[in-house]
Amino acid sequence: MDKKQITKERLKDWLLEIKNEGKQLYAPVVKKDKTDFKRIDSIDDIVWEHLQTTQSVKNIVFPRTEKLFSYRKDRGNVELEDYNPDRLPETVVFGLHPCDAAGFRPLSRIFNWDTPDKPYNERWKRTLLIAVSCTRCDEYCFCTSVNGGPGNTEGSDVLLTPVGDDGYLVEIITEKGKELYEKYNRFFESVTDNINKEEYIAQVPVRFNIEEIIRNLSGMFESDSWKTRSDRCLGCGACAFVCPACACFDIQEDVGGNSGCRIRCWDSCGFSLFTLHTSGHNPRSMQSQRWRQRLMHKFSYMPERLSVVGCTGCGRCSRACPVDMNIAAHLEIITETENER
Ligand code: SF4
Ligand code: SF4
Repeated sequence: MDKKQITKERLKDWLLEIKNEGKQLYAPVVKKDKTDFKRIDSIDDIVWEHLQTTQSVKNIVFPRTEKLFSYRKDRGNVELEDYNPDRLPETVVFGLHPCDAAGFRPLSRIFNWDTPDKPYNERWKRTLLIAVSCTRCDEYCFCTSVNGGPGNTEGSDVLLTPVGDDGYLVEIITEKGKELYEKYNRFFESVTDNINKEEYIAQVPVRFNIEEIIRNLSGMFESDSWKTRSDRCLGCGACAFVCPACACFDIQEDVGGNSGCRIRCWDSCGFSLFTLHTSGHNPRSMQSQRWRQRLMHKFSYMPERLSVVGCTGCGRCSRACPVDMNIAAHLEIITETENER
């Protein structure tokens, strides 16, 4: 992995050049008191330091709604217009944290476990991530408990770590990152000092042992604790919508007259309708079963079937929850007591 340095002023010039060359540039901006990723018009709009955006960046590769194909009926014939990736934009995302970049690993596994998902993969191919290490954390962060960290390079193409008041250490991680660096290498300097990145990043305490969680969950399907721990869950789905690693979706038809299209849109396993059959039967009719599914899927089924944990410890779900359901607190309890079973 190559390491370089860049000053803040040069970083602004670099991002401006990327944008001026026609790439979509997404970065954190403040809108209505919230920090979120938006396509930016001006470099001056960028929020350079933020604890965490409200939403993750997954919508850039897995949009909230996306047309998969469209069709038109003409007497007995049906004309199909397939998904066309040609007009998808090249996109650079700046300023995401390592827990967001790491979220693309579980997403990529989900969208490729059987038939590779064309819309997801085409967008992913055109997306480049310039992440920034975290210099602070809060009580909801637990990346270090799920194989991540505030300066973790996994998932990022380039990772910047703020070092001092006016500069960044630059780690060039992937081939995509290397190509980008080589194209704009005049903005960077060699690393002059012996910089220890660990001195500058947040200290996120380890709250539980993930291997122990995976082991314990395999025997907990029938546990009474699912009910006691999820009594107050409203099934609002906010936790899934802010999550960088949640991939539940629904398929809808939008038809008018002789034409229509098939659309994919975000969904949540926390919604009561998610598993409702047309017969009226619902295999997850109680909220406790839906909460169990959320935890089991992320921390048992995905590690077992896809060799990846479905959570990056970003803490967003707990920050967003209107009734203070805290996923890390529940996971801690799962490791702590046999009585939970
Ligand atoms: S855990 Fe919280 S955010 Fe998630 S569905 Fe339940 S109430 Fe909503
Ligand atoms: S489950 Fe919660 S903490 Fe884990 S990645 Fe999703 S939003 Fe973040």
